[in-house]
Amino acid sequence: MGFLGEEDMMNRVKVTIRCKRCGERFILRGRREKGKINTGFKQCICDNSNDFDIQIEDSY
Ligand SMILES: [Zn+2]
Repeated sequence: MGFLGEEDMMNRVKVTIRCKRCGERFILRGRREKGKINTGFKQCICDNSNDFDIQIEDSY
């Protein structure tokens, strides 16, 4: 485990991504960066890369 600064903790979010094509769900940890959420998620196992339901929750 690495060191996390206070600001980093505050920016931490849980992101649930559901693929609208195949229904697969991915639960990821992301970070708010300059108003955007960065999760590193690229695409679903079905090759869908832009058709998703995305839910974001604060996570500490
Ligand atoms: Zn999919």
